[in-house]
Amino acid sequence: MANAWPARTRILIYLALVLLPVFIVTIYNLPPPDLFAYNLGRAFALAAFTIMILQVALAARVKWIERPFGLNLTFPFHRNMGVLAALLLLAHPFLMVLGGGGWKLLLVDNTWYIWVGRAALLLLLINVSLSLWRLPLGLKFETWRLGHNLSGPLILVLGFIHSWYASIDFTLALMQVLWVGFLGAAAVLYWHHKFYRPARLRRDPYTVAEVRQESHDVWTLKFVPPPGQPRFDFLPGQFQFVTLLRGRGLPEEEHHFTISSSPTLAEFHTSTIKASGDFTATIGATEPGDKAVVQAPFGRFSYLLHPEDRDLVFIAGGIGITPFMANLRHMRDVQADRRVLLLYANKSERDIVFREELDKIAGGSKPELKVVHILSRPGEAWEGEKGRLDPQKIERLCGERLGQSLFFLCCPPPMTRSLLEILRGLGVPEKRISLEYFSL
Ligand SMILES: Cc1cc2nc3c(=O)[nH]c(=O)nc-3n(C[C@H](O)[C@H](O)[C@H](O)COP(=O)(O)OP(=O)(O)OC[C@H]3O[C@@H](n4cnc5c(N)ncnc54)[C@H](O)[C@@H]3O)c2cc1C
Repeated sequence: MANAWPARTRILIYLALVLLPVFIVTIYNLPPPDLFAYNLGRAFALAAFTIMILQVALAARVKWIERPFGLNLTFPFHRNMGVLAALLLLAHPFLMVLGGGGWKLLLVDNTWYIWVGRAALLLLLINVSLSLWRLPLGLKFETWRLGHNLSGPLILVLGFIHSWYASIDFTLALMQVLWVGFLGAAAVLYWHHKFYRPARLRRDPYTVAEVRQESHDVWTLKFVPPPGQPRFDFLPGQFQFVTLLRGRGLPEEEHHFTISSSPTLAEFHTSTIKASGDFTATIGATEPGDKAVVQAPFGRFSYLLHPEDRDLVFIAGGIGITPFMANLRHMRDVQADRRVLLLYANKSERDIVFREELDKIAGGSKPELKVVHILSRPGEAWEGEKGRLDPQKIERLCGERLGQSLFFLCCPPPMTRSLLEILRGLGVPEKRISLEYFSL
C-alpha cells in the first residue's frame, strides 16, 4: 500500500507529459481549428512523438521509474506504448488527408520533410514488427537489440525534423522549446544509459571469486566488489545485469540473472545460472579471477515487500528456483516468522538444484518451510510427486493455503501462463499472485 501513491504519481506524470503538447496547441488554437480529422491527426502525431521520447526513459533502467513497478512491468509497457505510437502515427497521414490535406499528401507529395516523415514511419513500423515477431522470425536477440538501439534514435531525429518543418504548431515558440527540450532530454538519457554508465561500471568491475558447479548444467558464480567498495544493497529476489569480461574468445554480452544469495552476506553476491542457450552454455567456462560489469539491483520479487503476509506459496520451475533461494536464505538468516510451501518442479532428480540446502532450511523452525518436489520425468525409484502441476495437484498440495496465502511464481513462461490460469480457476485473486518472468 505504501507504494500505491508514488506509482500512481509516476503514471500521472507520464500521461500529463504525453498530453502536454496537445494541450498547448489546443490552448493556442492555431489554424485550421475547425477541421476535426485534421486536428485529430495533428494531436495523434504530437502524442506519438512524446510517447517515443518517453520510450527512451522507460528503456534506460531509470531507478525512479522502475522502482514501484519492476522491469517486468516497465519493459512490457515500453513494448505496448511502442505499438500505440506506431498505430497513432500510422493513422496520422490518413487523418491529415481526410481533414483537407488532400490525397497527394499520401504518395505524390515530394516535399523533402514529408519524405522524412515517411522514412520515420517506415522505420518505426519495421522496428515494432521485429520487436513483436523476433522469435517467429528467427532473429537472434543480439541482432535485434543492435537494430533496435540504432533505429530508435534515428526515428526520433527524423520525427523531430518532420514535425518541425511540416507542422504549423512549431511556429509557436513554446512548442519549439518543448520539442528541443524533449529531444535533448532523450539524447542525454540515451547517452547516459548506453555509453556513460557502462563505461563507468567497466572502470570498476566486480571479480568472479568462485565458480561452483551445482548440477550437470547449473553453475553458481560468486562476485566480489572492487577493492575498497561496498557491495550494493539489494532485496532478496532482485536481479542484476551482468557482463562477464572473460577473454579467451568467450562472448561478452550483458545478461540478467537473479541474485541467488541473501543480502545478509555483506561481502559478495552470487548468481546461479543454467546452461540453456548460446551464451549460458559458456557459463561453466568462467574462471575465478574473471571480471564482471554489474548493474543492480532491479525487480520486486521479494517477500520483504509483503510484510503483512505470513503465509506464502512459492512455485518454482527448474532454474526459476533462484529468486526463491535468495528469499529463503534471507528468511533463514534473519529467522523470519513466515510459513512457506515451496512447490519445486523439475524434469528429473538430477535437475534439482539446492536440494540439500532446502532440506536444511526446512529442518529449521524459521521460516516454517515445507518443500514438495514434483518431477515430470521421474526415475523408477522416485516416490515423490510425479507429472505436471495440474489443478487437482495444486488443490491437493495447497489445501487451505489457496484461500489465504500469497503466491509467487517463477517458472518457464508456458508453465507460468498455465499456473496463472489454474490459480485463477481455483479462486486465487490476482492481487495475491506475484510473478517473475525470466524474459523481459
Ligand atoms: C529477471 C530475470 C532473472 C533471471 N534469472 C536467471 C537466473 O537466476 N538463472 C538463469 O539461469 N537464468 C535467469 N534468467 C534467464 C536468463 O537471463 C536467460 O536464460 C539468458 O539471458 C539466455 O541467454 P542465452 O543467450 O544463453 O539463451 P538464448 O537461447 O540465446 O536466448 C533465449 C532468450 O533469452 C533472451 N536473451 C538472450 N540474450 C539476452 C540478453 N543478452 N539480454 C537479455 N535477454 C536475452 C531472449 O529473449 C532470447 O530469446 C533470468 C531472466 C530474467 C528476465
